[in-house]
Amino acid sequence: MTGPVPETVDLAIVGGGITGLAAAWAAHQRGLRVKLLEARGTVGGKIRSEHRDGYLFEWGPNSFMGSATAIWQLIADLKLEDEVITGAPPGDRYIYRNRLARRLPRGPGDFFKKDSDFMTLAGKLRMMAEPFVFGDARETDTLLDFARRRLGPEAAQYLVAPFVSGIYAGDAEQLGARDAFPQLWQWEMEAGSVVMGALLGKKAAKPKTPKRRGLFNFKNGLGTLPFAIAAALPPDSVRTATVVNEIAGNADHTWTLHCHATKDEAATSQVRAKHVIVAAPPQIAAQVLPADPALAPVRAALLDVQLCRVAVVHYGGTDAGHVAPQGFGMLIPPGEGLRTLGILFPSSVFAGRAPEGHYLHSGFLGGARDPDAAELPDDTLFSLVQRAQEQAFPQTGGEALGHEFNQVIRWRDAIPQYRVGHRDRMNQARTTLQQAMPGVTLAGNYLDGISINDSAASGIAAVERLFAASNAVSARRSS
Ligand SMILES: Cc1cc2nc3c(=O)[nH]c(=O)nc-3n(C[C@H](O)[C@H](O)[C@H](O)COP(=O)(O)OP(=O)(O)OC[C@H]3O[C@@H](n4cnc5c(N)ncnc54)[C@H](O)[C@@H]3O)c2cc1C
Repeated sequence: MTGPVPETVDLAIVGGGITGLAAAWAAHQRGLRVKLLEARGTVGGKIRSEHRDGYLFEWGPNSFMGSATAIWQLIADLKLEDEVITGAPPGDRYIYRNRLARRLPRGPGDFFKKDSDFMTLAGKLRMMAEPFVFGDARETDTLLDFARRRLGPEAAQYLVAPFVSGIYAGDAEQLGARDAFPQLWQWEMEAGSVVMGALLGKKAAKPKTPKRRGLFNFKNGLGTLPFAIAAALPPDSVRTATVVNEIAGNADHTWTLHCHATKDEAATSQVRAKHVIVAAPPQIAAQVLPADPALAPVRAALLDVQLCRVAVVHYGGTDAGHVAPQGFGMLIPPGEGLRTLGILFPSSVFAGRAPEGHYLHSGFLGGARDPDAAELPDDTLFSLVQRAQEQAFPQTGGEALGHEFNQVIRWRDAIPQYRVGHRDRMNQARTTLQQAMPGVTLAGNYLDGISINDSAASGIAAVERLFAASNAVSARRSS
């Protein structure tokens, strides 16, 4: 069906998560006409905050860090500083081991204290020997290989493996050290040790503006940011409830995006653009590319990216006895007999997450090692998380904490897994795509890091890449 030729915008963006929105904002600031197309009814993607019954909970990400420069730049651009809230000063973090939550040291002075029982003395001494262990970084190292070599088997099992499931919901035996934590791997590669590399890196780094320390969110949750970006773009720049099906090339070097309304496949529309950023998850990116054989390796690489399933279990209630554990949260290493990956304590970190005198906690299940857990019924998920909390913090069991609030959220495409060789495969895919489809590029959390900051930076970098390439072409044409 052919309709009137649509207006041509400078940049069309597929996907209105933080990647696509940051790209839209960067392009708008360059004076470009943008059209962002989002399948869901609202923008934000994984970022979504909800108020219910006096609780404020996050569907996906729960905080960003002081070092999140792309996010802080967006906050400054959008004048959102007054909305930002700072997390309580570095609170306790726990590791579950041998049927109890063990507090991690608050600082180096605590490390060898008698009550610091998260690792054995032998395990701690082995960890301290890191600078003296021969550097042997290899591109094929899994995170577990790397952690065992640098820190020893105990730290690998009780610190690194749970840390990895806390960030990636991932499996340390599958993730690549160079892919998932490139800076740590690079330090070993260059200085023979992570500690030495970090120290040398610090010395060589030029003095920067003082960094903010800690964790941050907004008074009304992280959802504040995507909505603020969408609202600051010119009217008509963002179209929600619109699914992009295919990107097709035109003879005049522009691209046409074929779309349909989310709720009505027959309601089709088209958007024509000089440039396109595909900021949707990798499997969707593979689907929307044209069926050109030159793109077969790109599609294969995108379809091969593993996205893990995660269930987030929020629960809350009264805490009349002030017994709810305080601090950031607890991580649970694999092999400790619990299916829960970890529990965060949002009401202990950020103000306004639960009514006065109440607590809000969030458990995580599923991930790369136990994906089916994310599909369990709500009641089962809730009792698994309760069991984990009551076992780890026995004083909070029984009647001590009230339970009046439950909310389960399931993500089927929660977090991309940076398996061994992932970054090389993605860089290759991006290069091949740009050669086969000049003016079209990829951005998102599966390319340059998974945090909301990395995702926003990936969107901004995509704009810079496209317009640097297009300026070079214009310069060649006019010379
Ligand atoms: C449970 C959880 C906890 C997390 N915790 C943290 C944290 O504390 N801190 C942190 O920094 N990061 C965290 N992350 C990671 C971070 O939230 C994500 O990596 C990031 O938000 C991804 O942004 P994105 O824009 O790349 O992708 P997404 O947010 O997935 O956005 C992609 C968008 O594309 C849209 N789309 C899909 N198909 C189409 C189509 N055909 N047409 C148009 N649009 C389409 C989708 O609807 C979606 O809105 C967490 C993630 C999860 C799931």
